Amino acid sequence: MIPLLTILKKHLFHSHQAITGSQPADALGGGQQQDCSEIYIFVIGRLEDELNKSRDKPDYSRTELTDDAAKWKRSQMPLWESASREWKAEKETQQSEVANYFLGQKLIQFKCPNDDTHIHRSWESFNYLNLIINKSGTQSLDQVLRSNLGAEETMDDEGRITCVPCGKGVTKMTRLVNLSYLPDYLVLYFQRFSNHGASGKINTVINQFNSDNIDLTPYSPHNDNPPDNLKIPAYRGMIGPFKYECYGAVFHRGKGIGGGHYVAMARHLDQRGKEAGAWHHYNDRTVRLAGVNGSQGPEYGEPRNAVGDGSIVMLFLRRKKL
Ligand SMILES: [Zn+2]
Repeated sequence: MIPLLTILKKHLFHSHQAITGSQPADALGGGQQQDCSEIYIFVIGRLEDELNKSRDKPDYSRTELTDDAAKWKRSQMPLWESASREWKAEKETQQSEVANYFLGQKLIQFKCPNDDTHIHRSWESFNYLNLIINKSGTQSLDQVLRSNLGAEETMDDEGRITCVPCGKGVTKMTRLVNLSYLPDYLVLYFQRFSNHGASGKINTVINQFNSDNIDLTPYSPHNDNPPDNLKIPAYRGMIGPFKYECYGAVFHRGKGIGGGHYVAMARHLDQRGKEAGAWHHYNDRTVRLAGVNGSQGPEYGEPRNAVGDGSIVMLFLRRKKL
């Protein structure tokens, strides 16, 4: 194993300096404070790009079909077949270790209000999931997932999509987002912050985040086994069940994006030994063994709200081996 920092120094900073002549700090946004998701997106995006063996190939999403008739034809294929083809095409342009572990693909389906059989499908890759949370109260992780994935929503009058069999632009289509390919390592980001100053933080408590048994099977569109006559072999990330365990979390202390402090919790992945499965709490230079409370973050003798209710911002899940 190569330590992550070695890779960062060698590839990320080195290449950035070579290209732009700037200092490593500039590559990370200079002295400005960054939202933890911005740092994550920046680091994972750069690593993915730097380690991508086929980085010179055009990005799949940019070469995606733009012709409505061709898109419609693709929507008419059996789902297993079209989904496997989409993932294969995506992976041909994303050949890095980062993509092997973190990359997933969403399936977005629009259904026409004029006819239930007019279903339009498109696919979108991701290396983290952006989740909207309720503005107040308490939600379980399951509830957050359910309200973001696998639930149909009706588009408003402005969301007009060309329906090929109807032969015109149609409004009020229903939209459904599923996870067509689930990565072994799934990163969740909870949208707690708005762009409007320091006061825009949603403090909703998300409980049961540290579960050993987070089930994402209901959010896969492939709830049957792949057919035997599939032309492209089905991929592991498409075949359920999808059971995950939490191994890390980032918390935000403070009122909003304009200030505050991040702390993290991570779990010992060792299966044996006295620290097997133990949680550690990371606060700048201080690392300590910590218990974890399902809704309130780390517990280690400080008042429980030291980390803060409703402060969880990112969650790191890994797929369990069955
Ligand atoms: Zn239609």
